[in-house]
Amino acid sequence: MSRERLDALVVGGGIVGAALALGLRQRGLAVRLLDPQPAPRWQAADHDLRVYAIAADAQALLAALGVWPALRERRVSPYTAMQVWDASGGRPWRIEAQALGVPQLGHIIEHALLVDTLQAALRLAGVPREAAALSAIEDGEDGVVACLADGQRLQAATLFGADGARSAVRAALGIGVQVKDYATSGLVALLHSSHPHQSTCWQRFLPTGPLALLPCADGRVSIVWSLPQPEAERLKAVPEVQFNAEISRAADRVLGELKLDGERRLFPLRRQLATTQHQGRVALLGDAAHVVHPLAGQGVNLGLRDVTDLLASLDAAQRQGGGLSPSRLARWARRRHSENRLAAHAFEAIHHIYSKPAPLPMLLRRWALAAANLPPLGRALWRHAAGFSGVRTP
Ligand SMILES: Cc1cc2nc3c(=O)[nH]c(=O)nc-3n(C[C@H](O)[C@H](O)[C@H](O)COP(=O)(O)OP(=O)(O)OC[C@H]3O[C@@H](n4cnc5c(N)ncnc54)[C@H](O)[C@@H]3O)c2cc1C
Repeated sequence: MSRERLDALVVGGGIVGAALALGLRQRGLAVRLLDPQPAPRWQAADHDLRVYAIAADAQALLAALGVWPALRERRVSPYTAMQVWDASGGRPWRIEAQALGVPQLGHIIEHALLVDTLQAALRLAGVPREAAALSAIEDGEDGVVACLADGQRLQAATLFGADGARSAVRAALGIGVQVKDYATSGLVALLHSSHPHQSTCWQRFLPTGPLALLPCADGRVSIVWSLPQPEAERLKAVPEVQFNAEISRAADRVLGELKLDGERRLFPLRRQLATTQHQGRVALLGDAAHVVHPLAGQGVNLGLRDVTDLLASLDAAQRQGGGLSPSRLARWARRRHSENRLAAHAFEAIHHIYSKPAPLPMLLRRWALAAANLPPLGRALWRHAAGFSGVRTP
């Protein structure tokens, strides 16, 4: 067993784990990060196919962690409008940043860029990244013992599981998950469009699922197209010319003709919720605790909200001269679990209503889109959706 007793061991060095480890280190904790995979290296010449619409509150966290200037300097794409419309007809739902009195609604940022930038900040802050996988957890006298796949044993006062959808931390604690497999996949790709993207996030609801077109800094658009599994596989394999024709039609030619640039990739869509985000001195964050439908692009934003709230709890504890006690973790977990559950079910309900051609769901969504266009209600809804209503720094 290593003699060193850590304040915190973060298992999983994706966006959520890396952001958490950095925030904990900045608050003076002795932290170590565990991940068997090397962090992806970002290069300007390669554009990651996986991009996120980072909301205002997630941006506030990244700014508080000190990584926002580096991200902005490397490559972020601010978006100033969002437009949602229904393939079955009705008026589009549109909001401009100006109407909310903000310079932009959020930023499109590549996955590899986020992980690479956070990793560089962790190196500077002196947080070691251990290239090993967690295999078991034991209760220690006044903390947790993490057993690693390479035989090492590490002791920590608190252990954080941010090790993704197939979390070993969650399994080691025997925490169950409720899973709903949507039998659909998200098709992601980069495309050129014949009309400029106008720094707008476009989302069209089709009977097969939503299609999102996100504006990239270099003028291309990144798509996330939710499709039933066989259809997703067909569209991944069809010749490029045919794919271009089908995607241009599916997008209603809102950006003119779309042309594939590079590969197409699929990722499975499901809802997966851990039954709890906390047990004793262990907490679960990000995809380890909740996987949601990507239709609102909220996957990573929810994970970063887990981090913001946890760091705020630690700040409150430190002001009183303490740390993250199991009871404080339990209160944090209750708040996050209920918000994450609500979000997961809300995205699912929207997906459900929008993928039904029956008259009642159609009437419902026309009513919803019309209501969202009404000035005060629309503004309130959009402020919430874009993460402005809860902007707070940890
Ligand atoms: C191809 C693809 C496309 C996606 N596109 C979108 C999208 O367009 N919009 C959206 O909102 N979401 C999208 N998602 C989901 C999004 O990527 C996740 O919500 C997000 O990455 C979650 O971050 P995380 O840090 O919680 O987990 P992850 O990114 O999964 O990171 C988990 C980390 O834990 C490590 N790990 C795993 N097991 C162990 C272990 N035993 N011990 C130690 N470390 C371990 C892994 O190596 C990894 O680095 C996509 C996912 C995929 C796979």
